[in-house]
Amino acid sequence: NDKASLESLIPMVGDLQDILSTLPKECKIDIPQIVVLGDQSVGKSSTLEAIVGKDFLPRGGEGMVTRCPILLHLVQVPENDPRREHLKEGSRSEDWAIFREENGTDSEVFTDFNKVREEISKRTDKMCAAGVSEKVINLKIFSSKVIELTLVDLPGLITSSVKGQTKEVPEEIRKLVMNYVKKDKCKILYVTQATQDINTSQSLQILNEVDKEHERTMCVITKIDSVKDINNVKRVLTGELLKFNHGIIGVVNRSQEDIDENKPLEECLKDEEKFLKENLGLRLAEINGVYHLREKLNKILKDHIMDCLPGFRKEFDKEISVQEELLKGYGSRITKENKHRVITEIINDFCNTYESRLSGTASEVFKR
Ligand code: GDP
Ligand code: MG
Repeated sequence: NDKASLESLIPMVGDLQDILSTLPKECKIDIPQIVVLGDQSVGKSSTLEAIVGKDFLPRGGEGMVTRCPILLHLVQVPENDPRREHLKEGSRSEDWAIFREENGTDSEVFTDFNKVREEISKRTDKMCAAGVSEKVINLKIFSSKVIELTLVDLPGLITSSVKGQTKEVPEEIRKLVMNYVKKDKCKILYVTQATQDINTSQSLQILNEVDKEHERTMCVITKIDSVKDINNVKRVLTGELLKFNHGIIGVVNRSQEDIDENKPLEECLKDEEKFLKENLGLRLAEINGVYHLREKLNKILKDHIMDCLPGFRKEFDKEISVQEELLKGYGSRITKENKHRVITEIINDFCNTYESRLSGTASEVFKR
C-alpha cells in the first residue's frame, strides 16, 4: 500500500495494454482506462493537451479533426533515469514520444512535438480517409513533468455529416464512442462547454445510456472564459444542475486565437490560474483548473486500477487455462528442455497428415 508501489500501478497497466493490443481479438481483456466523451469542438483535444502540458494534438480548425481513438500513455521519467540514455548527449533532459505500431514494435523517437502532431495527422489520414476508424493510434509520451496516466481521445459526436463525408459518419462515430464508454472498466471524462446548456449535449444522451447515475464519470467544463454569465458557470461547477460521482472541474484551455498566435502552453496555464482566481473566487479557483484536473485524474485511475485488480487476476487465470487447453491439443507440453523435440513432432505430424497435399520438396524441407 506504500506510495511508490501505487505509482507503479499505472505504468504496469500501460504495459499490459500494450501486450494485449498485440493479441488476437478473441483474447482481449478489458483494461481499466479513462476515455474522453463529448460533442465535436467542445475542447476535448485541447483539454488533453493541457493535461499533458504539451502542444502535440491536431485540434481546432475546421471540421472533424480527431477521427480515430488516440491512446495516450503518459510516462514519468525523472531527469537522471537510465531510460534517457538513448537520447543524444546534451538533450538528455528533453521529453520524447514514440508511436507503438500494431505489430508491437516502436516507431522512431520524436523529440519535436510539432512533428508528433504532423505524424498523428498523417496516420489519421491514412487510416480513416474522409471518415472515422476503429483503429487506434497508440502514442507514448515520456517526460519528467507528466503525471502517470493513460487516456483515450475520441472523435466528437456530431448530428449531421458535412461536405466530403458519407452520411453514415455521425452513426459511425456514435458506434465507435459507444464501444469504449459502454465498458464497465472505463472511466468517462465527459467534456462539455460552458457556452452551451449543460443538459442538452448529444453526448449527454450517450452518457445517460451507459452510465445513468454518472457513477463512473467526471465532468470537465471548458471555455468558462467565453461566457457572459459567470454565476451560471458557478452553479454548474458546484453541481447544482447536474451531478457526477467524480466531480466537475472547470478549465480554460487555449482559444483558437492563442493557437493561431502560438501562445506557449505554460503561459496559457498561468493565465488560466489568474482567470479562475479573478472570476470564480479563491475557494472555487482552488478546486478547478488543469492542475487540479491532472491530480484528480491520476487518483481516479489509481483507485480504479486497485478496484479492478482482483477481477483482473481471475480473467487472466481464465485466459491462461483456455490457452493451456489449446496447447494440450498440440500434444505434449512445451518446455525449454523439450521444445526442439516437441516442435519436430508437431511438424512431423503435420507433414504426415498433409503429405499428399504438400509438394515433394516442401515435405522434405519440413521433415529436415
Ligand atoms: P474537440 O473537437 O472537442 O477535440 O475540440 P478542440 O480541442 O479541437 O477545440 C475546438 C476549439 O475550441 C479550438 O479552436 C480551441 O482553441 C477552442 N477551445 C477549447 N477549449 C477552450 C477554452 O477553454 N476556451 C476557449 N476560449 N477556447 C477553447
Ligand atoms: Mg478532438
